[in-house]
Amino acid sequence: MSDRSVLNLIDKLNKEHALDKEEWIQVIDGYTPEIAANVFEKARVWQEKYYGKQIFVRGLIEMTNYCKNDCYYCGIRRSNRNIERYRLTPDEIRECADLGYELGYRTIVLQGGEDPYYSDDDIADLVKTIKEAHPDCAVTLSLGEREFDTYKKWYDAGADRYLLRHETANFEHYRMLHPESLSAAHRQECLRNLKKIGYQTGAGFMVGAPGQTSEHLAEDMVFLKELEPEMVGIGPFLPHHDTPFADEKPGSTKMTLYFLGLIRLMLPDVLLPATTALGTADPLGREKGVQAGANVVMPNLSPTDVRKKYALYDNKICTGDEAAECKNCLQMRMRSIGYEVVASRGDHCGVVS
Ligand code: SAH
Repeated sequence: MSDRSVLNLIDKLNKEHALDKEEWIQVIDGYTPEIAANVFEKARVWQEKYYGKQIFVRGLIEMTNYCKNDCYYCGIRRSNRNIERYRLTPDEIRECADLGYELGYRTIVLQGGEDPYYSDDDIADLVKTIKEAHPDCAVTLSLGEREFDTYKKWYDAGADRYLLRHETANFEHYRMLHPESLSAAHRQECLRNLKKIGYQTGAGFMVGAPGQTSEHLAEDMVFLKELEPEMVGIGPFLPHHDTPFADEKPGSTKMTLYFLGLIRLMLPDVLLPATTALGTADPLGREKGVQAGANVVMPNLSPTDVRKKYALYDNKICTGDEAAECKNCLQMRMRSIGYEVVASRGDHCGVVS
């Protein structure tokens, strides 16, 4: 496959916003820095068309690191006995949300391990009180796999968005990353339910996850196109020392950036964060992510004393900073590359709110 024919496929992607699996494999295997630069240039045209130079911020509250699941890649997996567990009380979570509001955030994200300690009603109440206190805020949940009725209850309580990465679209690869109790089929069903209920829905995957091939990544792209999520979260896989994948090699920054650009070309108006994992893999990862096509950043709002405990992977950045510092730091970083962090809900542009 010559560079020319890869570039032709990228032109096609830029026009038709879709490729088939074989074409994706060629685009993925055809990576060169020059081709990536071409993708980023095209990606920025779409980013600018829909969102200008605006970068949306989401205040992230990591509410619990208890998890009933045992994903092989994740530092807060159930079997990890070496971490100190914590959960924030509803009052503490509301205080974080209030602080986020004061700092100018108009989206609050509640993320956590799958922790049955909070009942469905606890979460619904929490969403309700945050929305009552801050009606102009969007609330995003990222609390893992639940049944339709639970998602519906939380939506009716006021939740606007839900993040649930599909992790990998390939069923065998999913099996390499997760124990028997979890299945790709159920996770994908959850995503379809979220869409059906009306959430702005986020899927996504890790780049460079153990065992991942170009074919798997091609399937991820085809899956995303089919699902048409409003948000896509991707970041490099980064090993955590207390997991079965401790000795696996991390995903690369350059491939993660390439995928950010490709996702922007495939889903031109998608909400696409430059993730903390990308910022951990490379000190300028989030800036490079935005220049590759990302338009969202997610500074941390969790209380400083729990930050280090929400360690999905090693060396996570920003674990020592106060929430206000995180905000200022990101604002400065975005300005340094000619973008402006804005205080708005930052809905998907297909959503009327
Ligand atoms: N329990 C929630 C939130 C998961 S944490 C859920 O199931 O959706 C959010 C994301 O972090 C995960 O979906 C996963 O893709 C990513 N993640 C977990 N461990 C990681 C690691 N070691 N390196 C990079 N990303 C990781």
